[in-house]
Amino acid sequence: MRSVDVVIVGASLSAAAAAKRLTDAGLETVVLERKELPRHKICSGILSPRGHRFLLENFGPLPREALHEPTSCRGVTFHFPSMVSLSMDFFGGTTPHLHRKYSDYWAIKRSGAEIHDQTSFAGLEDRGDHVLVHARKKGEPIEYRARHVIGADGPSSLVTRAIYPDYPQQIPWFFVGQKFHAIIDCPLDEQYFHFWFHPGLGHYTWSHARDGKQIVGVGFKRGDNFAKKHANVVSYLSEKHGVRLETHTDDEGCAENFGPSLINRYVFGKGNVLVTGQAAGFLNMIGEGMSCALHSGAISGEAVVEARLRNRPVQETYRKMIASEVRRTTDQWNPLKIAFDKPHEADFPAALMALGWKDRAKVLRDMWRFVVLYKEFNWGRQIFREMLQRRMLGGYSAQRWL
Ligand SMILES: Cc1cc2nc3c(=O)[nH]c(=O)nc-3n(C[C@H](O)[C@H](O)[C@H](O)COP(=O)(O)OP(=O)(O)OC[C@H]3O[C@@H](n4cnc5c(N)ncnc54)[C@H](O)[C@@H]3O)c2cc1C
Repeated sequence: MRSVDVVIVGASLSAAAAAKRLTDAGLETVVLERKELPRHKICSGILSPRGHRFLLENFGPLPREALHEPTSCRGVTFHFPSMVSLSMDFFGGTTPHLHRKYSDYWAIKRSGAEIHDQTSFAGLEDRGDHVLVHARKKGEPIEYRARHVIGADGPSSLVTRAIYPDYPQQIPWFFVGQKFHAIIDCPLDEQYFHFWFHPGLGHYTWSHARDGKQIVGVGFKRGDNFAKKHANVVSYLSEKHGVRLETHTDDEGCAENFGPSLINRYVFGKGNVLVTGQAAGFLNMIGEGMSCALHSGAISGEAVVEARLRNRPVQETYRKMIASEVRRTTDQWNPLKIAFDKPHEADFPAALMALGWKDRAKVLRDMWRFVVLYKEFNWGRQIFREMLQRRMLGGYSAQRWL
């Protein structure tokens, strides 16, 4: 059995960031990835400025193959049912449009960790002074012994399920799916990521250009019909925005744990097992998850290094250190922060104020109608409570974390 300092589950961006911190500190680190690398990852690939800075500072400039066409993105455009559209540029200029298959592979290789791909995490036993990790390499059982384990295995995290088997029943699940279309005519500016605040389309509706095609995506509560939801968006785009597309050639979708960051219900692990990235619940507004995956991943790696150095329990160390990233992410959903601060990486209040008062009123009304779509999840009261706590205590309560 292989014995190492740390096993990281998943070979994505949070894993690369964690691995970088661990290998920089000289800790022997093995990354397990269930797929063969480089692997496909469903993602729009729109990187926030903060995520871009992290990649540059930690891994260097991105290689060309890690970018889609168009290679950069200027910002986001919000569209509303009243047909007002608001374009907002990212602070500090354009950011790269990542091709996740290659950007993630590039980052994990540059982390310096040893990578075991086609190796699926299957379970673990925390024995106090070490963790026994059960995995399957190309179907064959394989075991690792590690001092610590970091679950960086994304929204449907098996690591989280291994330590909190009931967790999946405690949160609402969404499905997000996208279809790829050849373009006949598309007036949507390809330099922007387009997002619709439209309750009639879905909980999350987007479109953008990639490699000569137009992506049309829709997210909704799990259980609804993807084909119908998507067809509805395509006909809306045609009717209202003059977007004319061929029938889609490819499609893909996955389950999403949208929600924990809105209401400060993160999962950070138990004992010697840390959970990070989207597995922990990190997701910024409009589904931007790469920057918080990178930063939380780095913090999980730092927490392991720090706990070993000071001989402190790793959970206690991680939970203290991760509070800053919780603030950054949950602030993005905090109504007081949105109204009076700048928690996002583009200036929504300025774009709103640049509208005439009639359009401003329409946008606010449309946003309210959109928010009502989420009423069934009972997040409103929780967001309000977290908002007050943030105002009074300067942070979000660690009591709500698993
Ligand atoms: C349709 C869509 C569009 C998106 N668009 C954007 C965007 O434009 N910008 C943005 O910032 N974010 C976007 N996101 C979110 C972003 O992709 C995620 O938040 C981010 O990738 C999370 O990174 P992560 O490292 O936490 O986990 P992930 O990227 O989910 O990676 C988890 C890794 O773990 C591996 N894994 C899973 N289970 C196991 C197992 N049992 N054993 C071994 N390995 C395992 C997976 O194969 C994967 O490689 C989008 C997401 C979706 C679904």
